[in-house]
Amino acid sequence: MSVQPDDSTSPAPEEVDEWILRYDGFDPSSESLREALCTLGNGHFATRGAAPEATADRVHYPGTYVAGLYNRRVTPIAGRTVENESIVNVPNWLPLNFQIDDGPWFDVGDVELLDYRQELDLRRAIVTRSLRLQDAAGRVTRVDQRRFVSMSDPHRAGLETLLCAENWSGRLTVRSGIDGRVSNGGVARYRQFDENHLVDVNTRAVSGAIALTARTSQSDVSIAEVATTRVVRAGTPVHPPLRVIEEPGFIAHELSIDVTSLETITIEKTVSLFTSKDRSISDPLTEACSWNGRQGTFTSLLDAHIGEWDDLWKRFSLEVEGDGEETRLALHLHIFHLLQTTSRNTVDLDVGVPARGLHGEAYRGHIFWDELFIFPYLNLHLPELVRSLLLYRYRRLPEARWAAHEAGFRGAMYPWQSGSNGREEAQVVHLNPLSGRWLPDASHLQRHINAAIAYNVWQYYQVTADIEFMANYGAEMILEVCRFWASIARFDPALDRYEIVGVMGPDEYHDGYVGAAEPGLANNAYTNVMAVWVLCRGLDMVDLLPEPRRSELFGRLSLDEAEIAHWDDVSRKMRIVFHEDGVISQFEGYEELAELDWDSYRDRYPDISRLDRLLEEEGDTPNAYKASKQADVLMLFYLLSADALSSIFERLGYPFDSETIPRSIGYYLQRTSHGSTLSRVVHSWVLARSDRQRSWEFFEDALRSDLDDIQGGTTGEGVHLGAMAGTVDVVQRCYLGIVTRDDVIWFDPLLPTEVRSLSLDICYRRRWMNVTVADGQFTLDISDSGEGAVRVGLDGEVVELSPGDRRQLTL
Ligand code: BGC
Repeated sequence: MSVQPDDSTSPAPEEVDEWILRYDGFDPSSESLREALCTLGNGHFATRGAAPEATADRVHYPGTYVAGLYNRRVTPIAGRTVENESIVNVPNWLPLNFQIDDGPWFDVGDVELLDYRQELDLRRAIVTRSLRLQDAAGRVTRVDQRRFVSMSDPHRAGLETLLCAENWSGRLTVRSGIDGRVSNGGVARYRQFDENHLVDVNTRAVSGAIALTARTSQSDVSIAEVATTRVVRAGTPVHPPLRVIEEPGFIAHELSIDVTSLETITIEKTVSLFTSKDRSISDPLTEACSWNGRQGTFTSLLDAHIGEWDDLWKRFSLEVEGDGEETRLALHLHIFHLLQTTSRNTVDLDVGVPARGLHGEAYRGHIFWDELFIFPYLNLHLPELVRSLLLYRYRRLPEARWAAHEAGFRGAMYPWQSGSNGREEAQVVHLNPLSGRWLPDASHLQRHINAAIAYNVWQYYQVTADIEFMANYGAEMILEVCRFWASIARFDPALDRYEIVGVMGPDEYHDGYVGAAEPGLANNAYTNVMAVWVLCRGLDMVDLLPEPRRSELFGRLSLDEAEIAHWDDVSRKMRIVFHEDGVISQFEGYEELAELDWDSYRDRYPDISRLDRLLEEEGDTPNAYKASKQADVLMLFYLLSADALSSIFERLGYPFDSETIPRSIGYYLQRTSHGSTLSRVVHSWVLARSDRQRSWEFFEDALRSDLDDIQGGTTGEGVHLGAMAGTVDVVQRCYLGIVTRDDVIWFDPLLPTEVRSLSLDICYRRRWMNVTVADGQFTLDISDSGEGAVRVGLDGEVVELSPGDRRQLTL
């Protein structure tokens, strides 16, 4: 190999195009990052941007993941038997390779690369790869590839390869296959677990195509992939004989063609992928075969795909002027990866949003509270998608009820990590790669996930006024979560307060008290305040739900006035702990912990974001220190407005003055390592009005989270969708000051000095509106397509705006 990459992991710096992620040169050390960032997906399945000729090795990791397709494996580890559920790496549809005469098959590591460039076109969702290589015999070949995973047909994908013999004539042999010899090997930390999820891998040739079927070992899902390979020469399809190559777990079509110098041959590979989880199918193989047979050409499929993305980009348009192309590129990239994981094709699938997308195997494809950073953004663009994603939680309500019951509580207790059926999927042990030790994992104690789910239900309702959803599904989730909070909260008569003990807050550095027999903390402020907030929403249901639904639901849940009165009591007497100077304590006892010597750690280690691992390796524990992995108390200021918080504290009889928020922000700001990419999003948000410079720095860092892999290796295992959506939502809701409450959409815009203008379209209560802030002027245009007036809050005043109306405000 001789083409050198630029020396950072960032895309090529020259001529940044806001729609193109470009990499010049081939860099083995950043290949896994590029694969993750060049993943293509359509909300049904996604495929990493791995080279088509590559198999999994130290450099490459091809991976294809189907939304919601999980499998469980059992492994004895660290003296226990651990059952893990993982999103399954399904057979690789990409394989395509070539050889010249009887020479070696192309391998990027074995040839001299004269040119190498890879690009992700965000507008059209195409990955292109262009390279020129010289083999040992001096033959120069140019390879141009482009691929897509169809947004217009959720079961289709395509790869086109142009091979140009630049200075040679001879026999070109091409192999185009499907590889079922895959396992989940993408995350080094998991490799001690059994990660072989596919069984019964079978291959066959089917009328001009090749097919591979497999089944997941435990969840028993059948998968079928069918591929057709077509050859075009000088613009005309040609039909060289196709030889079928079958090896155990692998099938390919192989073809040979004589080429002359400067001739270009085009190989079009189109693929269909179905699983037995798909709806309206007979069986996956039948379906994959017939759709592959009915196909158009690579080009016609691609055109339909581009058309669909055009529509998506109109719906999710975001125009930001001022800070340059890099910011716009990052924002487009973030929206893009969100839509590849969850899109219109996801509506009606029984899936949530995996924290790391469908881009890799980190966190095994599980679904966390990260949806809290995602749904509020999606609500304003594709609310029907959020509705569908919330139903994933609704269907798992029985499992959450069972979990609460098993733990000795009432109501529903959702799991910290969720997969197929909604049981708790959080790890019981995890590996500290620095010390090599397996450690007990108490992260399932993050009961605040329940508040996140209720919050998302409520936000969806505020934006859509979808009372049918609320009455049939949303209310039941909120009420059952209320019941859980009311039952986990224990009354202390001496204090005349309710307390929540044995939990963890969002900050994962603290999972208990040093020396305590059991993990868990008391009175995590975020958990307790959010529990009160959810209980208040439960109380709202009494008036909100229309009859007869209210009586039906309350009857079905045996919810009576005494229980409602109890919720009211808990919501007025929850305990919140404060430091002596009025700072909200992250949890009871935080103030007594030791101060960490941050300077010494910063001096000793280049990156201290995973302080927990550093401390554990040193035989210490973060539980001993005032040091947080991520925003915890500050989450309150992220989710709830100052007014909303002030009324909660007033309800609780605690002081809350104009200094409470800035004092608490200042305190935790100095004591947070940002070991989660979510943390910078929250910090950027909560500082946006009080310290615009610092807020912007956090925003810029959050924008680089995946693009520059700022955690040093985590993005290659999957992107961080919470931070991706969260950054876009900073621009959308935080900079525009959007709050949706009490049937009003409020705007209170304040752009950072780095942003000159901002314009986007949002959908509120079925009305599309354009919001533009430019030249010190706020302009709101209600589109003509709406149905009647909408209530808008601006400059302290609520006005009714009708379709076609415009409202302006000088800022
Ligand atoms: C964070 C969690 C987050 C999870 C998945 C962890 O590192 O601490 O807050 O939910 O990653 O993104």
